[in-house]
Amino acid sequence: MIKVKKRKILLLPGDGIGPEVIQEVKKVIQWFNSNKSLDFEIDQDLAGGCSFDKHGAPITDEVFYKALECEVVMLGAVGGPKWDNLDFSKKPERALLKLRKELKLFANLRPAICFEQLVDASTLKPEIVSGLDIMIVRELTGGIYFGEPRGIKPIENGERKGVNTHTYTTSEIVRVAKVAFDLAKKRSNKVTSCEKSNVMEAGQLWREEVQELHDKEYKEVELSHMLADNCAMQLLKNPKQFDVIVTDNLFGDMLSDQASMLTGSLGLLPSASLGAKNKDGEMRAMYEPIHGSAPDIAGQGVANPIASILSFAMALRYSLDLDNEADTLEKAVQDVLNDGLRTKDIISEGMKEVSTSVMGDAIISKLQ
Ligand code: NAD
Repeated sequence: MIKVKKRKILLLPGDGIGPEVIQEVKKVIQWFNSNKSLDFEIDQDLAGGCSFDKHGAPITDEVFYKALECEVVMLGAVGGPKWDNLDFSKKPERALLKLRKELKLFANLRPAICFEQLVDASTLKPEIVSGLDIMIVRELTGGIYFGEPRGIKPIENGERKGVNTHTYTTSEIVRVAKVAFDLAKKRSNKVTSCEKSNVMEAGQLWREEVQELHDKEYKEVELSHMLADNCAMQLLKNPKQFDVIVTDNLFGDMLSDQASMLTGSLGLLPSASLGAKNKDGEMRAMYEPIHGSAPDIAGQGVANPIASILSFAMALRYSLDLDNEADTLEKAVQDVLNDGLRTKDIISEGMKEVSTSVMGDAIISKLQ
């Protein structure tokens, strides 16, 4: 059994703009080490297409074992057109799936926050999104993406049949629902649980287990249930009705993408994937921006590093128990946006366009 080493951070920058944005995170971590007397130990390695190019595999066993012993994994992004035609097992994305599955990261947290300074970047009316602050908790290691049987097989009449299986057990539902309830207690105390209990037995089980957990352990949190299709609609109609949304792997994939787009700013949104705490209170976790490797702008120094820097703020909060430092870092980002600094993706009239590294430096200067 590999033990988690406290305060050890593994950086996996990945491909495309990944290395550019993770470089800014590295500067932030080094700033905390030098100025707040923190003792983060940083390691860095390859994952994704860059690992395939060097080692012939999207992630090597050596890197995987490193990830197992680190308290925090910070991932940039993986993938790009160069590797699109590889066999499925060699694709850069396999590195991500392996890390999520083998580190047992079952809860994916995706905040959708509308920054006041960027309200106009949303495709929705300002009054609908201004002040928006939702947390989507998506189950990440179960459901239809992993269920067996699966596959494509020939059938009698010369046709083929594609099969995937959607299953959930009580413990899989309860552990992710607990994460949602615990988060809600630190926020506005409201959980909306989403499934399709009207047409799916696994959805019915989901609803019953969430309700039972609530009645047993979380009576003080306001719980409502919503069908996932209605949730998709409500996210566009009145997104501010939500605080924490908890849902399964498939619906969470879609609803979290939809929610993040309400804010109109891919380059700003972080995410966390958390595992279970062991008896010593240790937890494995991976943090990453929600965006991909953006091959269209890679190498130009224009990528927005804020999503990655805010992912590190989530690591400070959820893995490293450093709430004050997380608050400080999030405030530094707000201050820089208030000063009118913008990377190319969020530039608007009257604002000053800056590069990836200037944005990182500006955030660090606000930490002083
Ligand atoms: P993408 O998120 O990489 O890019 C979408 C658009 O947003 C592009 O125009 C890009 O320039 C812009 N963008 C994204 N992040 C930005 C940032 N930080 N700053 C400024 N602009 C930014 O999505 P895509 O184009 O669909 O995918 C590109 C590659 O990334 C694909 O190979 C895909 O498989 C991979 N991908 C990886 C992850 C991951 O590693 N978690 C997630 C999504 C996509």
